[in-house]
Amino acid sequence: MFHCHVCGSKQSTDHFVDEVFFIEGKPTLVEHIPAKVCTRCGEKTFSKETTEKIRQLVQNKVGPDREVQMDVFVYG
Ligand SMILES: [Zn+2]
Repeated sequence: MFHCHVCGSKQSTDHFVDEVFFIEGKPTLVEHIPAKVCTRCGEKTFSKETTEKIRQLVQNKVGPDREVQMDVFVYG
C-alpha cells in the first residue's frame, strides 16, 4: 500500500513521469517512468521493480535513445 515518505499521505495516483538521475555525475533523463504520485504533496515514488529496471536501463544500454541539452540553474 502506498505511504508517502514525505507527508505520510496514503493517497496516490498512477502517473508516467520524467525524472533526472545522476549517473556517475552525469544527468540522465529517463522518460515515461510509471510512478505513484502523492495526491497531497506530489512526491513521486517508484516501485522496487521500476527502480531496478531504471538502473539496468541506464547502466546497460549501449546508448541513450536520444540526447537533450539541459539548462542548469542554481537557486540563490
Ligand atoms: Zn506526500
